[in-house]
Amino acid sequence: MERRTAIIIGSGIAGMATAIRLRVAGFEVEVFEKNATAGGKLTSFEKQGYIFDGGPSLFTQPENLEELFELAGEPIESYFSYKRCPIACNYFYENGKNITAWADQEMFASELHEKVGEDPKKSIAYLKSSEILYNKIGNVFLNYSLHKQRTWTNKRIFPALKALRIPYLFSSLDQYNGRHFKSAEARQLFNRYATYNGSNPYKAPAMLSLIPHLEQNEGTFYPQGGMIQIANVLKLLAEKKGVIFHFHAAVERIIEAEGHCKGVVVNGNNYFADLVVSNMDIYFTYERLLKNHSKAIEILKQERSSSACIFYWGIKKEFVSLGLHNIFFSADYEKEFKYIFTLKQLYRDPTIYINITSKYDHQHSPANSENWFVMLNVPANSGQDWQVLKMEARKYIIEKLNRMLNVNIEDFIETEDTLDPVTIESGSGSYMGSLYGTSSNSKMAAFMRHPNFSKEVKHLYFCGGSVHPGGGIPLCFSSAKIVTDLIKRDFKNTH
Ligand SMILES: Cc1cc2nc3c(=O)[nH]c(=O)nc-3n(C[C@H](O)[C@H](O)[C@H](O)COP(=O)(O)OP(=O)(O)OC[C@H]3O[C@@H](n4cnc5c(N)ncnc54)[C@H](O)[C@@H]3O)c2cc1C
Repeated sequence: MERRTAIIIGSGIAGMATAIRLRVAGFEVEVFEKNATAGGKLTSFEKQGYIFDGGPSLFTQPENLEELFELAGEPIESYFSYKRCPIACNYFYENGKNITAWADQEMFASELHEKVGEDPKKSIAYLKSSEILYNKIGNVFLNYSLHKQRTWTNKRIFPALKALRIPYLFSSLDQYNGRHFKSAEARQLFNRYATYNGSNPYKAPAMLSLIPHLEQNEGTFYPQGGMIQIANVLKLLAEKKGVIFHFHAAVERIIEAEGHCKGVVVNGNNYFADLVVSNMDIYFTYERLLKNHSKAIEILKQERSSSACIFYWGIKKEFVSLGLHNIFFSADYEKEFKYIFTLKQLYRDPTIYINITSKYDHQHSPANSENWFVMLNVPANSGQDWQVLKMEARKYIIEKLNRMLNVNIEDFIETEDTLDPVTIESGSGSYMGSLYGTSSNSKMAAFMRHPNFSKEVKHLYFCGGSVHPGGGIPLCFSSAKIVTDLIKRDFKNTH
């Protein structure tokens, strides 16, 4: 019987995971990628002996990758190795306190008790609620299309709805955390999880309290060789299964006729297929590939997630107080988020995230040195002068680190590179440089993300961080699963 053909636009995590799933389901699959390499927001580069991961730095839920290898019948251990981190993150506060977020629940609860006086039983109960929320509600909402009637009649939906408590929707994450923790430090630490999808903890619903389950219960992991290995092995697996990649191949248009998707135009040539999946940002998919400006504008009804300014520093010194993931909190978190989302400006005392992969991969920096990925959450690009703002950000970071680490950090920076909202947009095609598509700054945000299929154009589908269920690597893997399930149903009698 004739094989069905699929075209994927973009080789981000979701694009490649969808390609593998469709190939395993028997489709002929071709991926068109505008860049020279696969991985989208996952990039990597070397400078003066320092190796940097350019984009994501936190790896959770490795089972998503394991599942793909299992599905494809390939042993993951021949491709990829990773280890569980004993410490999820090191937190530093302006008042001189610091908290080590041990992966071990009991140790973490003791640490919160010892450092900021939290009742260990309450801390453990909070993490238990996070687990219940994730397993009962998250698993349903993150693994199915919310835009198909059958999801709402699925037998798993009733326990999920039953577990849904009013505060999860009607309290903000900050209010919820304020009821569970008495110290400002623990409240800020758990508020930080809203930034997992580029949201504001003072606006985002308490539903986001399911996120700590990923980091503090299931654990954080380090892929040997860095985050770029996730993209590398997905590409290897896809090619091994027969997926064809085209690089330097920007899709210019999606071909549709009489409400049916027929293929794509690349470099002026038509490529036809039975279905197309766009892993490109949904705003640009409508704006550029479908020339549907009104639909593109409709997408913007939902606020974009925050973006980032990143400084990649080769540091010729080793800092024993730092680990793989480190956060230096601002003294006034609420004000910081007001600057990011309302004023759309830089805040002069920003929260700084530092990722140092040379702590795990010694070859990522020369001897006695460290590769620092220093990131600030900043507003999505709305025309600010990022060249000027980046210099301001650099100044604020240096002032804060000098103060909190008691050093003159500039003495140790021997190489520097940067990324900002404009270069994030030009690199991965993410509208306004948002890291996670749309934010979760409203109680209905989860329901407002674009579906994984087109309601207007048959056999056109969407995956990736800008559509359901949202941004971040684990959710991009989920979107690949959801979109493949939809396609398999639509093409049931194919083989
Ligand atoms: C700096 C940064 C830090 C982050 N930190 C984390 C983290 O620690 N943990 C985490 O889980 N997530 C993190 N994220 C978010 C995570 O990286 C994304 O959610 C995820 O990688 C998005 O994957 P995607 O499948 O949506 O595709 P994307 O990575 O957005 O890739 C889309 C692909 O489509 C291609 N494309 C676009 N237009 C076209 C076209 N016309 N034709 C052909 N190809 C096209 C692009 O070149 C790109 O390769 C971070 C993101 C950034 C930028």
